[in-house]
Amino acid sequence: MSLPRVAAVDPGSPAELAGLLPGDEIVSINGRVPRDVIQYRLLVDEDEVDLELRRGGLEVDLSIRKTAGAPLGAEVTSALFDRVRTCDNHCEFCFIYQLPKGLRRSLYMKDDDYRLSFLYGNFTTLTRFTEADLERVVAERLSPLFVSIHATDPEVRSRMLRNPRGAVSLRWLRALLDHGIEVHGQVVVCPGANDGAVLESTLAGILDRYPDLATAAVVPLGISRYSTEASLRPHSRAQAEAVVDLVESWQQTFLECLGRRLVFLADEYYLMAGRPFPPAEAYEGFPQHENGIGMASAFAAAFGGDAGAAHGRKPGFFAWVDGAPAQGYRAPRQGQGTAVTLRPRPRSGSVAVITGTYGAEVLGPLLAGEGSGARTVVVENGFFGGNIGVAGLLTGQDVASALATQPEGDRYLLPDVCLSEGRFLDGLGLEDLPRPVEVVASDGLSLRLALAGKSR
Ligand code: SF4
Repeated sequence: MSLPRVAAVDPGSPAELAGLLPGDEIVSINGRVPRDVIQYRLLVDEDEVDLELRRGGLEVDLSIRKTAGAPLGAEVTSALFDRVRTCDNHCEFCFIYQLPKGLRRSLYMKDDDYRLSFLYGNFTTLTRFTEADLERVVAERLSPLFVSIHATDPEVRSRMLRNPRGAVSLRWLRALLDHGIEVHGQVVVCPGANDGAVLESTLAGILDRYPDLATAAVVPLGISRYSTEASLRPHSRAQAEAVVDLVESWQQTFLECLGRRLVFLADEYYLMAGRPFPPAEAYEGFPQHENGIGMASAFAAAFGGDAGAAHGRKPGFFAWVDGAPAQGYRAPRQGQGTAVTLRPRPRSGSVAVITGTYGAEVLGPLLAGEGSGARTVVVENGFFGGNIGVAGLLTGQDVASALATQPEGDRYLLPDVCLSEGRFLDGLGLEDLPRPVEVVASDGLSLRLALAGKSR
């Protein structure tokens, strides 16, 4: 267990007035040792906050008096102060197993921790969930949570997770729903394992046993060139079409039975199947936007001027590893609607938007119809290879290679989803790129404004 360290103190806040300093380590709050940022927030919500601190080897006590519920004005450096609960599954489709060697050690961490689900939207299989966890989730209303379902058939699920507890851990999903916790589910579809009849039975199982699930996202397996699983293969176009047909027919069933669609398809399915994206209203408010569900439709609507559809960035696959701000607990350092110039803008030249292969299929037609003459710079994901085409998994070295072929003097816009705490996944930063770039929030309205040379 590590001590939470104060990262920042707001000017004029109760914390600053009491003398709390960045770098202070918090030993206890009102006599209790917080295990994570969730507990920290609850403890500092009190009107009397007695802090036992460590400051440069000295022990310091501070007493802070404020209105109950008012912010203390101090943020801490990490989300979890005890150990992250690691995953004891061995899913063949796990992306961690598909990473190349030599990346930062923290990227290889397999977490299955409900707290990271609450804080960052990470999906948990619940195979390590306990009665005590349920009590805490219910008592502290840690909602929403995000649960990997994959299959409702116990045998199929345990086989996919390569863990016998996978057969029974969905009982916790039922318990969470019974206690009124909002839960969003996910099914990662692996052709030959849980598509076809298995996917149909999973959707029927959701309707039968978990109709109070908020949403279920159906997303395709991602395979990098480092996968060693012989049985894994990416979707063929015909398989993608079959998934689209099946899920869309189940959306009608859910609509008839529940009055809502409940199940939604990842954007990649429409691209793989060569089908048009559904209209924005078919996503019912984009509840799984950050999981790549409806991003293209939301982006197009926002690009067309619908500010209500301007969803912010997807936090990224490894956001929690890099200590990125947890949703709802710390303000994002760069959020929706911002455009940041990292180096001086060139005075002339045309505008190019850097994106991955999937993003280019969405952006290309939008830019063509927009009339500014902006183009895309399509970055192939050579680092991961395979079928990895999303912008959020682009590395600095691939972006650098693509930019090196582009003319100097143009404006280059980079979506902020490519970066976590200012770095690409491979550790490179903007200073390593051969052209100056401007980082733009990953929503359509921000891009439109950036193209016009404005920010909001
Ligand atoms: S549950 Fe998630 S982290 Fe664990 S092995 Fe499966 S995919 Fe990987």
